[in-house]
Amino acid sequence: MQYVSTRGQAAPMSYSDALLEGLATDGGLAVPVEMPEASGEQLEAWRDLTYPELAAEVLGLFATDIPRDDLARMTAAAYAGFPEGVVPVREIEDGLSLVGLSEGPTLAFKDMAMQFLGQVLEYALEERGWVQNILGATSGDTGSAAEHALRGKERVAVFMLSPQGRMSDFQRAQMFSLDDANVHNIAVAGVFDDCQNLVKELAGDIDFKRAQHIGAVNSINLARITAQVVYYFWAWLRATDAGGWTEVSFAVPTGNFGNILSGLYAKLMGLPVRRLVVATNENDVLDEFFRTGVYRPRGSAETLATSSPSMDISKASNLERFVYELVGRDPERLAALWAELGESGSFDLSAEQPRFAAEFGFVSASSTHADRLATIRSVHEATGEIIDPHTADGVKGARANLEPGVPMLSLETAKPEKFADTIREAIGVELDCPEDVAAMLAAPQRVTEMADDADTLRAFLEENALH
Ligand SMILES: *Cc1c(COP(=O)(O)O)cnc(C)c1O
Repeated sequence: MQYVSTRGQAAPMSYSDALLEGLATDGGLAVPVEMPEASGEQLEAWRDLTYPELAAEVLGLFATDIPRDDLARMTAAAYAGFPEGVVPVREIEDGLSLVGLSEGPTLAFKDMAMQFLGQVLEYALEERGWVQNILGATSGDTGSAAEHALRGKERVAVFMLSPQGRMSDFQRAQMFSLDDANVHNIAVAGVFDDCQNLVKELAGDIDFKRAQHIGAVNSINLARITAQVVYYFWAWLRATDAGGWTEVSFAVPTGNFGNILSGLYAKLMGLPVRRLVVATNENDVLDEFFRTGVYRPRGSAETLATSSPSMDISKASNLERFVYELVGRDPERLAALWAELGESGSFDLSAEQPRFAAEFGFVSASSTHADRLATIRSVHEATGEIIDPHTADGVKGARANLEPGVPMLSLETAKPEKFADTIREAIGVELDCPEDVAAMLAAPQRVTEMADDADTLRAFLEENALH
C-alpha cells in the first residue's frame, strides 16, 4: 500500500515513510492511495481474535511494508500492559454502549494508538539506523500518552509543547513528573493552537526538520489514525451477532478530528457503520461545519477553556482527510480549498453539506458545561457508572442520535479520575485516588517555560535534540 499527500505534490510513500515524515513535504496529509477493504467474510473471520490479533490484521492492510509477524509482535507488546480484553464494551442504557478505550497507562484513549506507535516508530528507526526527535503539541492527553509510550526509548527523544496553565493538575503531573532523559516538557505562554502553530512552523521548515531529525506523533500521524481504526472493528464485532450484517452508529468526543476520522476509514473499508456522531464541546467549530458546510477555524483568542479540555481545539487538523474524500480525492480541489482558507479564513462547502450525512454518515452535536454535568449525573443515577466529561459530551450526542434497532456505541475517551473537579461538581462524589496516582501527583515536576516564540524553540531543540 502506497500513501500520497492530500495536496498532490509529494512523491508516494510507504507506510513507514509516512510514519517518519509526519506532514507530507507539500504540507498535506498522507492518505492511502486506495482504501483497503475489510468486509463480508473477512470481517466474520475476525470475530474470535483477541484485540492484539485483530490489530495486526487491520494494521496489516495498511502497513504492507512491514512483515505480518513483526506487526503481530508489536501489537502484542503494545497491548500487553492492558487489562484482559483490552477494550471492554458495556451497555449503559437500552441500545447505548460505552467502548472502553481508557485502560492504558495515562487513562485516556490516546494510549491505544500511541502504544502501537511507540513500537512501530522504534522498529522503523532501527531498520534505517536513524534517530528522531518528536516535536508535538498537546492540550493534555496526547502529550502524556506520547511520553509514556516513548519514555526510555533509545532512538527517540520527545519535545512536547503544552499551553501553560490550561491543563488539569492530573494531566500536568502525568507529563511533568516523568524523569526520563529523553522526555522534554515545554510549557508555552499561549493556548493549544499557539503550540500547534509553533510545531507547524518548525516542521514546515524542511532544512531545520532534516537537520534536527524532527518527527511528529500528533493526531495527523498515520500510525495513530490506522491504530484507531482497529477499535471500530473491535467494537462492531462485540456489539453484533455472527452472520448478521447489523449496522451500528458511533458517537465520538472530537477535537482534532483524529479519532472520528478513523471511524470514517473503518466505514469506507466496508464496516457497516450508519452514523458517526461528531460530538464537540463549546468549541463547536466542527459542529458548525457539519451543520452548515462552512468551515471557519477560530483564532486562539476565541478558544474557550472548558471542562472537557482535551477538546478545546478550534482548528481540526485531520478534517483535511475527510474533505479529501468528499471532493472525490481530487488534490487540486483540496489544495484550492486550503488556499482559500489561508486567504479568507474560511471555506464554504454548503452545496455539499447534504452529502456529509447521506454518504459519510456524519451528524454532529455540541455540549455545554451544564450538559456535561447533567449527562454525568444521569448516567450515574441510572447505572452507578461515572463517566468523564469528554465521554459525557459523546454520550449527549449519542442520545440525541439514537435510532430504533441501531446499536449506538459511544467512545469512552478518558477515565473520570483525570477530571475529579468536574465529577465532584456533577455528582458530589470524591473519587478515590489510587496510591500510584497519589505518588505521581506528589512527585517533583520538570518543565521548561517558554514564550510563544519560534526562535526560542529552535535554539532549545538545537541544543537538546538527539543527533
Ligand atoms: C484527544 C481527546 C479527544 C479528541 O480526540 P481527537 O482525535 O483529537 O478528535 C477527546 N477526548 C479526550 C479525553 C481526548 O484526550
